[in-house]
Amino acid sequence: VLLHAVEAGISTVRVYPSGRSVAIFGDSGARRSLLLSFPIRFREALVGSFADLAGLSTGRECVVESTFQLETETGIRAFRISVLRGLSGVETVVTVIPDLRSVIALDSIGFHPEQTEITRRLLSMQDGLILVSSPAAEGVATTIYAMLRESYRAGSRVVTVEETHRFRNDGYIQLERHEVEKRFGGKWTRLAETLEPDALMIESVSDKKELLDLVHIARRGIPVFCGAQGVNLSRTLETLFSLEVDPFLLVRVVRLVMHQRLVDLLCPECRRAVPAVPSLQLVGENYREKLETMVQEVTFYVRAGCPRCRGTGYSGKMALFDLLPFTPGVQHQIFSDEPLEEKLARIVGENLRSAFPSVEDLLRRGMVTFDDVFPFFR
Ligand SMILES: [Zn+2]
Repeated sequence: VLLHAVEAGISTVRVYPSGRSVAIFGDSGARRSLLLSFPIRFREALVGSFADLAGLSTGRECVVESTFQLETETGIRAFRISVLRGLSGVETVVTVIPDLRSVIALDSIGFHPEQTEITRRLLSMQDGLILVSSPAAEGVATTIYAMLRESYRAGSRVVTVEETHRFRNDGYIQLERHEVEKRFGGKWTRLAETLEPDALMIESVSDKKELLDLVHIARRGIPVFCGAQGVNLSRTLETLFSLEVDPFLLVRVVRLVMHQRLVDLLCPECRRAVPAVPSLQLVGENYREKLETMVQEVTFYVRAGCPRCRGTGYSGKMALFDLLPFTPGVQHQIFSDEPLEEKLARIVGENLRSAFPSVEDLLRRGMVTFDDVFPFFR
């Protein structure tokens, strides 16, 4: 059933009761199809056999989860299974973990061309720390994987630590955070010493202490890519420079700090053109002139809803980035005598490669609503 699901482009397989039967359904984006159906008395056995496949023992817990792999003639496929024990009995959900190779490249993640070029150049140095901050963890792993794929070819020892696996990459050593807790006492330095990676990816650092450990790992020559929660680029920089480490050392180790925000993309089937033009009043001064020009030239759209987008009006998301590369110029500015806050504000003001060109591009192509990208105009 699972291998058939992979072949048929099904992303999720669910086993749950349907009337007096227990049914196996396959979800592929917009479509749900019935794959198999059994008399209800086979319910426990059916769920149990999926759990066996993943080496899970299902007891009385409400939810148990695991990842597992199946080997086929064409390669290895990875799955995530959740067994849920609710009031109405036991159910299971198996998600196909997409193959990384088919989904991510550096020029498909929302950088505009200048940002792609800067990032490529910094990645080619194969050292230092690259920090991706974001209001929520969603999408950060995708961004880091795209950068890893750009700079580390087959044969490199890349170690990744995610909260839970979402992508599979044949060549990488992929760990989930709970495994790091168990095997290395949650210590990044111990992990780095034991596994000796060519590059290390941490999806999400939880506090300053962890971030500081990663700075030291990068200082010892292991390139580190890490995600961190943050409201904007300036705040993330403040966090970085509040670490208990010599700022001279810090600017030599950090290569790139970026802040990522996700925007919803309009469903192209049902988006509606609107004559109304956005109000210029709340728009930041730097952007007012730009927006005035765009209002003359661009058709603005709002969302509607259709069967293809399940009535949401959106189809997919895109990550947009503010980038601050730590160029020699930035390194130099860090050493000036100004107070830290003013210094950082000036550095951001003069060196930021903002997401704005991507935002303008999306608006001109009618792929986003003005309301959804309004925060970029502040
Ligand atoms: Zn639609």
